[in-house]
Amino acid sequence: MIQIVGRYAPSPTGPLHFGSLIAALASFCQARSQGGRWLLRIDDLDAPRVVPGADRAIIDTLAAFGLTHDGPILYQSQRRAAYAAAVAGLRDASLAFDCACSRREAQSGPAGLEGPIYPGTCRDGLPQGRCARAVRLRADAGVVAVADRIQGRYAQDLAADIGDFVIRRADGVAAYQLATVLDDAEQGVTEVIRGADLLSSTPRQVWIHRCLDLCPPTYGHIPVIVDAAGEKLGKSTGALALDSVRRQEQLVQCLLLLGQRPPAALAAHSVAGVIDWAVEHWDADRVPRRRTYRRTNAATAAGN
Ligand code: GLU
Repeated sequence: MIQIVGRYAPSPTGPLHFGSLIAALASFCQARSQGGRWLLRIDDLDAPRVVPGADRAIIDTLAAFGLTHDGPILYQSQRRAAYAAAVAGLRDASLAFDCACSRREAQSGPAGLEGPIYPGTCRDGLPQGRCARAVRLRADAGVVAVADRIQGRYAQDLAADIGDFVIRRADGVAAYQLATVLDDAEQGVTEVIRGADLLSSTPRQVWIHRCLDLCPPTYGHIPVIVDAAGEKLGKSTGALALDSVRRQEQLVQCLLLLGQRPPAALAAHSVAGVIDWAVEHWDADRVPRRRTYRRTNAATAAGN
């Protein structure tokens, strides 16, 4: 039988907030309700964005909310050699190429889903006199379709929608898309549950898996909380700070937003009691098939 492995992979850019608690709880319940393991990874690749001590604060907050992880914690900052080896392998196999373009040059192509499509300038070799800055993966994938556990089928024509994308940035740091694939593989992750803001990254990640001969996990993307303008509410806004007192109530609010049906009395139980109920009654089919929840003026959020 396959051992189910889920994971939660926060970026240590600030404290855990309500939006991230929902994602952590959903991935936890999805793994544990199937008797699986739930791993933790700290996505601290992007050094300038890392807030010292935020990793510890996130780890402690998860534990205080009853979300205990299995095994050692993986830190992306310790995985640089693995990322570099994968980039080298993809270049050697001509699946990736060196790119000399500045940000402005790279953005001169037609519009894609997430900004301009790379115009292809360095695809067949660096222009004379130019030096490599970034490394890009060729988007020669055709249509990449994902059977998302929550959102249903999601597909992109990678070349037309995204274009050749960066796997090693000009500052030498591995791009999120590559690092997350290598780390999910390293940790043996079989099921990724995360926020729907990452749904559009998923075909790129599936393509990287294929290029590296790795088997992708299954994916499920839960709705994320957005403000009135449709922007994801995050750590920087402080709008969704967690309360260290009424943890049970906040967990029950998360369960309600995840479409679960906790009994009214559940909030009176201990944190461990709420978590046990959540794992035992978890039903991923009940998670709303939508990408966002709009935040109301209430303390947390409600569906719109
Ligand atoms: N570190 C990412 C974040 O905090 C999540 C990465 C992932 O789940 O793939 O948004």
